[in-house]
Amino acid sequence: MSELQAENRKILEAKLAKLRGRMNKITDDLRQEKGALSPDFAEQAVELENSEVLEHLDGSGRREADEIVAALNRMDEGEYGICVECGDGIKEGRLKAVPAASMCISCANEAEKAA
Ligand SMILES: [Zn+2]
Repeated sequence: MSELQAENRKILEAKLAKLRGRMNKITDDLRQEKGALSPDFAEQAVELENSEVLEHLDGSGRREADEIVAALNRMDEGEYGICVECGDGIKEGRLKAVPAASMCISCANEAEKAA
């Protein structure tokens, strides 16, 4: 388990660094777009559409980053690999597939059904 945790910490930290880099770039792009909108209306519509896509990307990237930070915190607390919902252990296979997983497969399925 601890070997898997050390491995997943590396994976999650690398992923987090990448996500943060991407988010910074998106934020920069958005700032530039808002600063200088084209006077041409058709172009303006496309630019606005693009920035909506970027905002969406930003949102899902942020959520993913939050999940990773939470998983890293659980590692620090010694709670990594324990389901936050029912307290059961999360199977190694699941942690390998989803390093940031906070719930065991059955709780994750329940949460998905409820959503
Ligand atoms: Zn559970």
